[in-house]
Formats: sequence, structure tokens, C-alpha cells
Amino acid sequence: MQTNLADFIRDTPEGREAEEILRKCVHCGFCTATCPTYQLLGDELDGPRGRIYLIKQVLEGQPATEKTRLHLDRCLTCRSCESTCPSGVQYGRLADIGRHVVEQQVPRTGVDRLTRAALREFVPRGKLFGAALGVGRLLRPLLPRALADKVAPAEAAGPWPAPRHARRMIALSGCVQPAMRPAINAATARVLDRLGISLLEEARAGCCGAVRFHLHDQHGGRDDARRNIDAWWPAVAGGEVEAIVVTASGCGVQVRDYGHLLKDDPAYAVKAARIAAISRDVAEVVAAEADTLKALLAGGTGPRRRIAFHAPCSLQHGLKIRGTVEGLLTAAGFELTPVRDAHLCCGSAGTYSLLQPELSGRLRDDKLAALQDGGAQCIVSANVGCIEHLAAGARLPIRHWIELIDEKVTQTA
Ligand code: SF4
Ligand code: SF4
Repeated sequence: MQTNLADFIRDTPEGREAEEILRKCVHCGFCTATCPTYQLLGDELDGPRGRIYLIKQVLEGQPATEKTRLHLDRCLTCRSCESTCPSGVQYGRLADIGRHVVEQQVPRTGVDRLTRAALREFVPRGKLFGAALGVGRLLRPLLPRALADKVAPAEAAGPWPAPRHARRMIALSGCVQPAMRPAINAATARVLDRLGISLLEEARAGCCGAVRFHLHDQHGGRDDARRNIDAWWPAVAGGEVEAIVVTASGCGVQVRDYGHLLKDDPAYAVKAARIAAISRDVAEVVAAEADTLKALLAGGTGPRRRIAFHAPCSLQHGLKIRGTVEGLLTAAGFELTPVRDAHLCCGSAGTYSLLQPELSGRLRDDKLAALQDGGAQCIVSANVGCIEHLAAGARLPIRHWIELIDEKVTQTA
């Protein structure tokens, strides 16, 4: 695609990156067919090709309007279009650049502005979020249904094994996950312990930065990344840990991007690239130890449970991990049920479910029907956001897949 970027952005790092991405797009429109919002709304401007045009126009100097912002707001940033694109167009990166410019040209007002500010300040603060969730649980019977559905019941994490192995990794604890689903990281620690790896958490680390970054506070998102790097760096630089393990694939995508996000920061560029390079989704860590896991689970008995796996967009399109979790679950003795349109987003998409409730709700209904129609007894996923979003409307239990592996491994102890 021929471009002629406006003076305000042409010679900036963002301008150069956007130009390179735009040039790759050949307008073929293949991406449109796999875009969830195009499928729902049928408007070219609510598909990737139309959004790329909108961003191009703005970067070429045409003023953005509220309509431009609306079509970009409706995008889930699911990156299904990237998986489909034959030309390797990095839509997600272009969307980050375009949204930032549009946000400055068309400032938000009223409730929209307040809602986003509240989410930016509240969600990444894990302790504050946990305290509010505790109050919400007490008041749940009095809350309106839409709000009550978002208040997850309390769960016990179970024991976290004391460090005993030479091989060590650090888990990202994140912001909302410790309060909503503390069992996920604890289950990961138990499984890895049986695989010969001790998992640690670093209390000074927190939100991966995705919440603020994608709510148009890119500076704040980068600060979250710097804080995490500072927290992990002594153990990484000292060779005490070999990887940063992430159990929420949405956060995993952000951590994997630290090198890119901080490439122009002389104090952090090298550290950020190193942290990104050693970040691993828990599926990658367990898959690397598949033989040990298989030996542990050999001879297991009991009926095969039927499981439906929801592959988060951040796992399949962002981290490009496809088939790994399914392979681990099958090897552990679970039967995976077929799930149609598995490439499509469930509508969670970070804070999208709160900011675009109508579209998000329609995507959730479609996804739940696809997951529940195959006769599964349980649904599993790989991202806390998807798990909570789906759980609010599901008739089946929804868990992280590592919890099922943990149950199997624990039975063999
Ligand atoms: S990121 Fe997802 S919602 Fe956005 S344009 Fe691409 S496919 Fe559509
Ligand atoms: S599939 Fe790729 S090249 Fe084709 S229109 Fe979409 S982004 Fe552009």
C-alpha cells in the first residue's frame, strides 16, 4: 500500500514502523473473513482492512473523527487478522500507533473518559482490586445481575511447594488473577515442582502493563514493565532463574513485547529484550518437560473426562502457540471435544467486555454455544480474562487447563 505520512509522524519511530507495516498490506481482504467484529456488524470499517485504511488516512494528515475512534474502539485487538494475513501485516502494532494518534486528536469526554480513567487506575493495582472484590463478594446478593456475574466466588489456592530444586523460574503474579483465581499459579507451582522446577513469585512485580497500555496510557504501561523488570532483574542477571513463567496468555503477550516497547529506552532496552526472550507461557514450560509428565502420569486410571478447550486469542494469535495445550491435555488422558470457529474471540479482550458490552456479550454467547455443544463436562482455557468472562454466562465449570493437569499429578503423589 503506497503511503505518504504527514510531517507530524513521518520521521518518528512510530511513523517509520507504521509506514513499514502499511506498505505490506496489499488490500486483499482475506483478513476480513476471520474478523469477529466484521462478522457481527458486516461493515468494512469494522474489519481489519477498513481499520487499516482509517489509520492510514489519519497518519497521512486527515483529521480523526469520533467515527474513526468508534471503529477502532470496536476492534478487540484479537489479532485473528494477523494469523490470516498472507503478507505478514502486523495489525496489532499498527493499531497501537493509530489509536494513540486518534486518542490525542479526539479526546474523550464524560462517562467514557471517567470509566477508562477508573479502569486504568483501579485494575492494575492488585491489592486495591482484591479488596474491592472482597466487598463485592459480600454484597453479591444485592448487586444487579450484570455486575454480580462479574464477581467471581472465592477459591482456595492450595499449597505452594517450598523451593527445593536447582532449576528455578519466576511466575508473573499479575494484577487481577491473584484475587480472582489464586489457584492457577499455585497449581502451576505444584506441577512444575513435580517436573523438577521450583516456581517463585516476586512480590515487587505486578501488572504486566497491558491494562494501562491498551487504555491509551502507553507511558503508564511502559512504567509497569520497568517495575517488573526491576523486580526480576537481580535473579535473572545472577543466573538464579531460567525463565519468567506467565499463566495468563494475555499478560504473556505483553511481557513478550517488553523488548519492543522499551527499545528506545537506553536504561532498559537490553534488560527488556532479555526478559522478553526468557518469558514463557506455562504451556511451553510444561511441553518442554512432556516426557517427565508422561512418566508421572503413566498408569493413571479412571474414566476419560470430556473437555472443551477455548484457545485465547492471545495464545493462538499473539503468542502463536497452537495445539500445545491440546496435546498436553490429550496426553494426560482427557478427551477434547470439537469446538467450531476456534479462531474467534470470546469477547473478553482485556477491558473490552466492560467498554463494549453488547458486542462482547454476543461473542460470548456464540463462543459458549460452540464450547458447550460438543458434550464437554468442563471448559478449560489459558487466560484469566477469558475464564472469568465465559464463566459469567456458562452452564459448565470453567478452569485453567493447568489445574486439571495439577489434579492428575497430585493423584500420583
Ligand atoms: S484485531 Fe480482531 S477485531 Fe481487530 S481488526 Fe483484527 S480480527 Fe478484527
Ligand atoms: S489480509 Fe493482510 S494484506 Fe490482505 S487486506 Fe488484510 S492486512 Fe492487508
